[in-house]
Amino acid sequence: MRVVFAGGGVIALLTALECVSAGHEVVIADQADIPFSGATSFDRHRVLRALHTGDPATTAAAVGAHHAWIELENRLSTSFYEQVGALTALPAPEAARDLLTAAGSKAEVLGADELAVEFPHAGFVSGTDAVFESQAGVLLADRVLTACATRLRWHANAELHPHRKVTGIDADRAEVRLADGETLRGDAVLVAAGPWSRELLAPALSRELVLHRQTMLYCDVPPTDAAAWAATPAITSLGSDGGAWLVPPVAGTPLKLSAASACRVVDEIGGATVPSWWREHLIDTFATLIPGFRRDWLVDTRDCHYLARRSTLGPMLAVLGDRVLTYAACGGSSFKFAPLIARSLAARLTGAGPVPTGLEPLDRPLVRAGGVHPIRPALRGVS
Ligand SMILES: Cc1cc2nc3c(=O)[nH]c(=O)nc-3n(C[C@H](O)[C@H](O)[C@H](O)COP(=O)(O)OP(=O)(O)OC[C@H]3O[C@@H](n4cnc5c(N)ncnc54)[C@H](O)[C@@H]3O)c2cc1C
Repeated sequence: MRVVFAGGGVIALLTALECVSAGHEVVIADQADIPFSGATSFDRHRVLRALHTGDPATTAAAVGAHHAWIELENRLSTSFYEQVGALTALPAPEAARDLLTAAGSKAEVLGADELAVEFPHAGFVSGTDAVFESQAGVLLADRVLTACATRLRWHANAELHPHRKVTGIDADRAEVRLADGETLRGDAVLVAAGPWSRELLAPALSRELVLHRQTMLYCDVPPTDAAAWAATPAITSLGSDGGAWLVPPVAGTPLKLSAASACRVVDEIGGATVPSWWREHLIDTFATLIPGFRRDWLVDTRDCHYLARRSTLGPMLAVLGDRVLTYAACGGSSFKFAPLIARSLAARLTGAGPVPTGLEPLDRPLVRAGGVHPIRPALRGVS
């Protein structure tokens, strides 16, 4: 089969790898480079942790994702998963530990005193307890994308089309129309255009998706603290009201700081430049949390966008036609689940049938005939 992809972020690249591994052909069209530094997937890091509080199925799926990333590293003969573990401050860490253990992960509770002794530099809210997962850590996201794109670029059954914007999808004919007037025809199509997905979907479907924008700070830590920070797990919650979290400076990356309070709903995708109000909000947030934090630690700032389904705040998988799918990834978890998402989407696209993942939108997609803008003008240059 020939599978056409609109978009070349982590979802499309991993799904394309699954397809070529199963002997199919893939064609990937992206509006920019492949990988594109402005894509949501393209960052120094993304966090992988298994804990989904109160949700055994998703926690078990995330344990599966941990193993899937290790397999992918082996398959691509490269390394991009720093297993530094993950720490989450929360009110009932024992329940979280039990949930993780039941899902097959390794977890332990660290009391407030232990946190203060082991991670005095990290900024946990005083008196808070946490759960530590060892089968977790940091995915070096830009390295993941480069490794996948490089493998595909040299694969006999893959065609990469950077700088070819998709302007329409014909769900009945499994065709993708490009801005230059050409058409890419396949037996199956996946629309995985990240936060831009709404532009390719019909209004009824795109209205289901809400656009979010989040600010992040990147910091160089003082040399005196570098060893302590390098031995710090990903911290998905410091226990603060605003939901502050951080990614440690692993493998030569900067310390990354952000917070749920720095995420807002927006109407349109803006640039990556951070408005000063949001930069100052995060600086103020971390100045009250991390001992000795100073604004001159900052080496970069960035805003990143993602979509979330209005009803669930999670990702959305919709069936647009026979073997024509769209996967709108969400914030927080779609990167870490990408290997599972890719297996499931590749199986659906190539007719191998649904692969159970334990992840709600994959196992129960929305079926929406006419979910794309219809394109009917004469098609030129079919390739
Ligand atoms: C601040 C932030 C932190 C996050 N942290 C985590 C985390 O710790 N763990 C985790 O698992 N997930 C996390 N996520 C979520 C995760 O990063 C995203 O869900 C995931 O990267 C989305 O991948 P994607 O391939 O769907 O989209 P993208 O990476 O955005 O890729 C979409 C691609 O489609 C292309 N495209 C768009 N429109 C067109 C078009 N018309 N024609 C051709 N090409 C087009 C774009 O150029 C782009 O290359 C986070 C997200 C944000 C914003």
